[in-house]
Parts: sequence; structure tokens; C-alpha cells
Amino acid sequence: MSNPLLDTTDLPAFDRIEPSMIEPAIKTILQENRNRIQQLETIQEVSWETLVEPLELIDDRLSKAWSPVRHLNSVKSSDELRGSYNRCLPLLSDYSTEVGQNRSLYEGYRKLAESSSFAKLEPAKQKAITDSLQHFELAGVGLNTEKRKQFQEIQSSLSELQSTYENNLLDATQSWELVIDSKEQLSGLPDYALSMLQQYAETKSLDGYRLTLEMPCYIAVITYADDRELRKTIYQAFTTRASDQGFTDSKWDNADIMCEILQKRQQKAELLDFSNYAELSLQTKMAKDADEVLKFLQDLARRSLPQARQEFEQLQEFARTQGFEEPLQAWDLAYFSEKQRQHLFKFSDEDLKPYFSDNRVINGLFGIVEKLFGVNFEQVEQGIELWHPNVRFYRILDAEANLVGQFYLDLYARENKRGGAWMDECISRYVIDEHEQIPVAYLTCNLTPPIGDQPALFTHDEVITLFHEFGHGLHHMLTRVDVPEVSGISGVEWDAVELPSQFMENFCWQREALDLFARHFETDQPLPQALFEKMLAARNFQSAMQMVRQLEFSLFDIRLHQQTQIDSAEQIQHILDQVRQEVAVVIPPAFNRFQNGFSHIFAGGYAAGYYSYKWAEVLSADAFSRFEQEGIFNQAIGREFLDCILQVGGMRPARDSFVCFMGREPEIDALLRHNGIQNHQ
Ligand code: ZN
Repeated sequence: MSNPLLDTTDLPAFDRIEPSMIEPAIKTILQENRNRIQQLETIQEVSWETLVEPLELIDDRLSKAWSPVRHLNSVKSSDELRGSYNRCLPLLSDYSTEVGQNRSLYEGYRKLAESSSFAKLEPAKQKAITDSLQHFELAGVGLNTEKRKQFQEIQSSLSELQSTYENNLLDATQSWELVIDSKEQLSGLPDYALSMLQQYAETKSLDGYRLTLEMPCYIAVITYADDRELRKTIYQAFTTRASDQGFTDSKWDNADIMCEILQKRQQKAELLDFSNYAELSLQTKMAKDADEVLKFLQDLARRSLPQARQEFEQLQEFARTQGFEEPLQAWDLAYFSEKQRQHLFKFSDEDLKPYFSDNRVINGLFGIVEKLFGVNFEQVEQGIELWHPNVRFYRILDAEANLVGQFYLDLYARENKRGGAWMDECISRYVIDEHEQIPVAYLTCNLTPPIGDQPALFTHDEVITLFHEFGHGLHHMLTRVDVPEVSGISGVEWDAVELPSQFMENFCWQREALDLFARHFETDQPLPQALFEKMLAARNFQSAMQMVRQLEFSLFDIRLHQQTQIDSAEQIQHILDQVRQEVAVVIPPAFNRFQNGFSHIFAGGYAAGYYSYKWAEVLSADAFSRFEQEGIFNQAIGREFLDCILQVGGMRPARDSFVCFMGREPEIDALLRHNGIQNHQ
């Protein structure tokens, strides 16, 4: 039988991919790529067609073979699959470092950049070449042989360490459960949550209610359980995952892994002549340097902190009116906040959920995108291989019915699926030799699954999450750039990449947009105006507290990566404690090991880049203000957004794309207004 991973001409063959096929396929492709590179090293006449295009094609084949593997490892993990995946990581990392350090290729790109033909190339190609040169330099192409080897070793161990960190977190998360027999002990939990916990128990052939650390369960218990001890138990289990403090096996403790990751990153930065890793990380971002980032974060902190402290005092005061006299602890916050929110605005998440049923929400989202950007959606139910029966597949067509993009939609939380929500590239857009490759995306969420015969009913937050990821998907799929290095989200600065995603979130707060989908799943009645007004009034409830929490994570991340020496997990804890002293309104208990589960910065790509969420929110809020002023479904502005931002990918600096759309530099006011931060000084 032929290996389906080697056939990259079509969509991935999810029905046929076996873990045993992964390593051989990746090894074959890497070998073929190396052979091709050897040929390219000897070409005499360097041009776009002789050097860059062949490299684009071999890169593309590798990424198309690897993307379904990476994806399956996230959404349908098993020991066997993870084993194969992990064995490939060092192979891929070695290959990528080797290409990045290839001097012949680098010289070829330099010749191309310095040749007279460079100026005649289209802008996207020029940007691709300039980006590639920087990529070579940051991969250590300029180092001597010995240092190049060191660099390779660092890269390779970093990739393994980061993967171990993520796996420890997943294993620790999945290893914890608590089975509760009596409904009384779960008093306060809404019906949907009780059904969900019963369903969790049934999957393990157990009676009663099974609590896990999966997000929908954790949120439900920490928000609604009247039993304070139970809230503390789940809070403690959740915030000590993969640590020395946990209820779970210490073999999953990430403490040493974090130290090693930080040490390796520092070594890498030093090899490239940067004083610390933050400096290296910011080379490829829109923010100029760590100072600019720190100033940005501290400015937001200064504006938000007084209000955040006030919000916390009000919460404490509210708890007192409920007969709760003690100081609020971390495991009380969500619980009393929800009670306070209900008291102030007279509604709860549960009141909204019947209006957010899965199919209506999806169709509404499509309707909004159709209005704004003039594209249509079509579900394909036959002939597509999927990894789970709940996954759906869609095509996007333009106004002339041309296929422009396709995507998989995997909405619900389930076991063996990594938590959180994300968009990942399956296939990227390019046009080479008149062949147009249509982009394909994976859109993955962990939303509340359907219970029994009912459709899945989402919280408003879950709807926002879906819109967010869809914004990333649009960025990837609606691009019109032909050059793969800078099409879609490729080549877009990390701190600008959240612009389209956070932009899409805004529609979840607009009556006109909600009217397209917020209808009662049983009666088809639209969302009552009174409920909508309560929802708006509640929008900025505790927004300053949420703001400072994000600033806490961002400051911790950037400061941590400015350190030149990390010797112990205590030191990491100390930096986090310091940041909390500055910006947190609630200091978590000493057992809290948030950092051991902060995979964004330790396993994902957000190292010295977590501030990007807030940075891009300035851009997205500012951009959305044009729609607020001129009509949220204003097609002319929608098309401008498409032209200036969504379609251009990374073919020019994000700042230029922003200025193209707004006609000026970004301003912070819209963000503060959207967040209801009063202190504008
Ligand atoms: Zn995002």
C-alpha cells in the first residue's frame, strides 16, 4: 500500500494515515528535499525561477505532509501517534536549521537581492526575499562551523523540550478526575453542566458525575458550584497541573523543563549577538523593541489599575452582602463575580445560551462574512475524509462562484483533544507556473458539545471564540497573494496577526449582526431587546480586572525573556510574583503554578510575544471603529478591509496595511472605549 502522506496533491487522507507511516514519509521527503537543495547549490544563473520557486515547492510539499500529522496529534492524540510525532520533531528541526544555515542558498538570495532585476520583481516577491534573508541570518548562517553546530543542537533540544512541556500538561490535565455521586454536592451547577458531567461519567462506564480539568467542566464548576471546598479542589488541581504542587504525578512537573527552555533560548540569542531572547524575538515583530513593548504595557496598566482595584473592592463588598465575610480567595472570584453580574444585570450566561445554538451561530457567522466580503459558503458532506464524525468541511466561493478556500471545522471539546481554540494551516495559497493552490484551514475549538438530542448551546464567550478563530481562518483563506512565503498569515508580524481575529469578535456585540443568528433554538424567537441591553451593560463588567490580568501575563513573559540567566524554577516564580505585586489586584495562593501550564510562551510561539494580543487589539478596535461610524455591514468599508488587510498577507509591513485601511497610524482610544476603561489620562 502506498503511503498517503507522500501524496500531497489533494486534501489529507485522514482515514488512511497510520502512525507507522509518519516517520518513513517524513524521512523520504526530507531526503528528496536535501537532494534537490544540493542541485540548487550549484546553479549558475540565480533568479526567482531558478532558486526561489524550487525551494517554495519543496517547502510546500513538506508542510503539506506534516500538517495533518501535527493536526492529528492535537485533535486525536494517542500514544502511538505521539511517539511518531515526537520522533519526527528533531528530524524536522535539524532539517530546518540546516536549510536556514545553508550558505550557498543564502549567497544565492543575496545575489538576487543585490541584482538589478530585484527592483523589477513584484512587491510580494521582494518582501519574500528580504524576509528570507532575515530568516537565514536568524538561523545562524553567519556563524562559524563550531557555533553553527551549537546552534543546531540548541534548536533541536528546544523543539523537544517544548513538546515535552505540552505533553506533560496534557497528561497532567487528563490524569485528574473526581467522581461525585450526589447531585446535592454539585448544587449551583446549571442543568447543562450536570448533564455534561453525567456524560463524562458515562464515557468511562461510571455512575454519577465525573469532573475533569477540561475547560467546559472547569469553568462550570469554578463559576457555579456552591460548595466552596469543591471549588478550591478543582482550582487547586487546575492551577497546579504539571507542577510539584499538583495532585498529579510529579513525573509531569514542568519546572526543570521551563528552566532548560529559557536557558536554551538565551544561548541562542547570544550566539546571534543579541543580549537576551526578547531582543531576538522582537526582530520579526511590529513593535520596535522591548522598551516600546514595556512602555505600551505599563501605560495600559497605569490607565487600568485604579479601576481594576475598584472593581475588586466592589466584588468583595458584594460578597459581604451575600453573607460572605472572609477575604475572597482565587477560587471565589468566578463564583461571586457571576453572582454579582446576575445581581447587577439580572441575567446569566445560561439565559443567553438558548439563543446560541450551533448551526444558527455558524450560519450567522457565514452570513456576516458574506455581507462584508462578498464570499459564499457551502458545506461538503460527501467524499471528504475526516478524523471524527463531528467534524464538518466547507468551501468558500467568491461572487463569481470560483473556489477561493476550504476549511475543516472541529467545534466540540472531547477527550484526547488538546484544549483551547486555534486556526492552523493545512494548505497555503500560491500560484506557481500558472497552477493556483487553494488554501485550506483547520478551525479547531473546544466548545460545549451537544447534550442528548439537543443542539449544542454556546455561551456568548464561546461564540466570540468561534468568531475569533474564524478571523484567522479568513486571513489565511481570503489572501490573494501568489507567493507562499507571504500569502495568508505567512510573513505577517506576530504582533499584528491577531488583527483579523479580534476584529471579527466585535460583531458578537452588534444587534444587527446578532439578528442574523441569535434566535431561540426551540421557538426561533430573536434575542429579546431587554436581554441584549443587559448583555451590553454587562460587557465591561470587570473589564479593568481582565485587562490587568492580561497585562500580568504579558509583562511576566517579556520580563522573563529579558533575563540573561535563569537557574531555577524559584527564579521564574519570583519574576511572576514581582509582576503580580505591580499589576495584579488578586494575588493567587502560594501553591498556584500558573507558569507550569503557560504553554503559549513555553510550548507555543508566544515567547516574548504574549503582549501581541493587546497590541493587535489596539489595531482591531481602531479598525472596527470605522464600521461603528459608517455602518457595521458597510460593504465599501468591508471591501477596503479585505483589500488592505485580509488579502495582502505578509507582502508588506503590517503598519503599512493598517495605514492603508485607516489613513493614519494606530490610536489607543477605541481599545479603551471598547473595554470601558474610564481613566483616559
Ligand atoms: Zn488568535
